[in-house]
Amino acid sequence: MTTSVDSFADLGLSESLLKTLAEVGYETPSPIQAQCIPILLDGHDIIGMAQTGTGKTAAFALPLMESIDIKLMKPQALILTPTRELAIQVAEALQSYSKNLPGFHVMPIYGGQSYTIQLKQLARGAHVIVGTPGRVMDHLERQTLNLDHLKTLVLDEADEMLRMGFIDDVEWILEHTPEQHQTALFSATMPEPIRRVAQKYLVEPKEVKIKTATATVAAIRQVYWQVSGLHKLDALTRILEVEDNFDAAIIFVRTKTATVELADKLNARGYSAAALNGDLNQQMRERVIEQLKSGALDIVIATDVAARGIDVPRISHVVNYDIPYDTEAYVHRIGRTGRAGRAGNAILFVAPREIRMLRTIERATRQPIAPLTLPSRTDVTNKRVAAFKEKVAEVMNAEGLDFFANIVSQIAEEQDVGAEEIAAALAMMAQEGKPLQIAGEDPVPRPAAFRDERRPANFGERDSKPRFEGRGDQPRFESRGERPRFDDKPRRPPVGGDMVRYRIDVGRDHGVQVKDIVGAIANEAGIESRFIGRIGLYDESSTVELPAGMPAEAANALKRTRVRGVPINLRPDEGRPDSGGERKFKKKPFADR
Ligand code: AMP
Repeated sequence: MTTSVDSFADLGLSESLLKTLAEVGYETPSPIQAQCIPILLDGHDIIGMAQTGTGKTAAFALPLMESIDIKLMKPQALILTPTRELAIQVAEALQSYSKNLPGFHVMPIYGGQSYTIQLKQLARGAHVIVGTPGRVMDHLERQTLNLDHLKTLVLDEADEMLRMGFIDDVEWILEHTPEQHQTALFSATMPEPIRRVAQKYLVEPKEVKIKTATATVAAIRQVYWQVSGLHKLDALTRILEVEDNFDAAIIFVRTKTATVELADKLNARGYSAAALNGDLNQQMRERVIEQLKSGALDIVIATDVAARGIDVPRISHVVNYDIPYDTEAYVHRIGRTGRAGRAGNAILFVAPREIRMLRTIERATRQPIAPLTLPSRTDVTNKRVAAFKEKVAEVMNAEGLDFFANIVSQIAEEQDVGAEEIAAALAMMAQEGKPLQIAGEDPVPRPAAFRDERRPANFGERDSKPRFEGRGDQPRFESRGERPRFDDKPRRPPVGGDMVRYRIDVGRDHGVQVKDIVGAIANEAGIESRFIGRIGLYDESSTVELPAGMPAEAANALKRTRVRGVPINLRPDEGRPDSGGERKFKKKPFADR
C-alpha cells in the first residue's frame, strides 16, 4: 500500500460514517482516500490525480457528507461528472454511504431525463446534486437550481469533461457559484486547460497523487480479461477449469462482504474455498492459511490487508477479481504466486472503465499484460471429458473390477443390450450433479464500445432512456454504453449502417464547435460518438448524420437538447446533401471534417 494508514478511524471521520463503512464492508482506506479525506475534512481545496478504480468517489464523498446539514433541505454540495452513467454511479455511492444518515437526499440530474420529473425532485429538495454540466447549467439558468447554500463543489473526471467539450459549461458553473465554498478537482491526467481552471478557481489547493512507482515483477505470467458478456463468477470458474497447472489460488476482492459472498458461491460450485478478511482473528487466519498449505482448501478469497505476507508455495494462481487501487497493491498481490521457484500466474479482471488502470499497471511494471480469451463452452467440455477419460482409465487399472464386469455381463444378457450402452448409462450415473457440459451460451463478442457491466439503479426514470440495438455491425443506440470519447481530430466515418442527415438550430454564430454537438448528442441520446457521422457547421445551423432507425424517444430527447443553452430542435434535413439545407448560409459548410 502506498500509505501506512490502516484504518478509516485514523482519518477523522465521524462514528456514524465509520459504522456505515464497516457495514458496506470497506476494511481500510485506499491510498487516495487516506490522503484526501483529512485534507478535505480540514476544509482545503484539493487537486486529486486519480482515475476510476482508485476509490476516488469515496475520497471526496465521505468528507462532503460530514459537512451536510440534514435539517437544511438545500443543495449543499454539487458534483459535476462528464456522463450520466457516472452521475448515477456517484449518486448511488453517496446513497450507500448515507445508511446511517436519515433524511439524507442525493439527486442525480443529467441530460435526456425529463425536465418535469427533475423539476419536481428539485422542488422537493436535495442535499447533494450530482449532474452533468449541460443540465446543471440549464437548471441554474432557469433558476430551478439554487446554490446559495453550497459548501462543496466537486469536479469529477475533469479531463473527461474537457475531452467531451464541457469545459466551458464547467467554467460557467464555476462563475455562477457563490464564492465561499470548498472545491475538489479530480482528474486522471492534468492537461493544460484543467490546470488553468484549477489555478483560476481553486484556493491554495493541496495536490494529491497516487504513487505509480515502477516495480519489477518476478517471472509471472500475467493476463487480463475484459469483463464483458459474462458474469465475473462464471468467467472465473471457466478460467480456473481450463487453466493448466492449476493447484491453488488466491482471489482478491475489495470488501469483506465480497470475500464471504464469493467463497460461498465457489463452495456451492464444488470448490473448496474460504474467505480471508480483517474480521478473522489471528488464529482463524492462520487456520485458513494452514488449510491452503495442506490442500484442505484450494481457493482463498482475500482483501489486500488480510492477504499481506502470505507465503504458500502451492499458490499457482492469483486472480485480481476486483482491480487493485494502485500498482503497488497489484505487485503485492501477484507476488503471492510464483514463489519458491515455481511458475506463477496472475489473472486480472478489468471492467471497461478500468482500462486506464490496466495501462498504468503495465507502465509501472514495464511489462505488457496480455488479453485472455475466455475459454468457450467447448473448451471447458473438452477439459472435463479429458479428465473423465483419465479417471475411467485409472479405475480400469484398479483391482477388484471383476465383480463389476460380472454385473455388466448380467445386465447385457437380461436387457439384451451392448456393453457400450451400459457403459454410457454408468457414465451418466457417475457424472450426476457434475455435468460434463456447461449450460448457457458463449458470450457473443461485442465491440469494446458496448462493453459495460454497470447498471444504474434506483434513480427516477433511469430506464426510460432510449435504447435500441442494431444487428450485426449496424450501429446501435445505447443508453448506458461506455462513455463516448473523442477529440478534435477528424473522426472516422461511422461504422456501417445507413445514415440519416438531420438539421439542428445551432451553428458557428452561437459559438458552437463540432465537439459540442457530438458531446450533446452522445450524452442525450446515448449514441456512441463513433456512430455519429459527418457534421456540417454553418453560421446559424448545422447538419449531423445519425444512424437510421432512431427510436422516437431518442428523437424526442434530441429535439429538447440544448447546446450552449440553445435548443437544437433536431429534425430530418430536407436540403440537398451539401447545400446547407433550405436556408441561406453565409459560408460553405466543411462537410468533410
Ligand atoms: P472508484 O474508484 O471511486 O470508482 O471506486 C471503485 C470501487 O472501489 C467501488 O466499487 C467502491 O465501492 C470500491 N471502494 C472504494 N473504496 C473502498 C475501500 N476503502 N474498500 C473497499 N472498496 C472500496
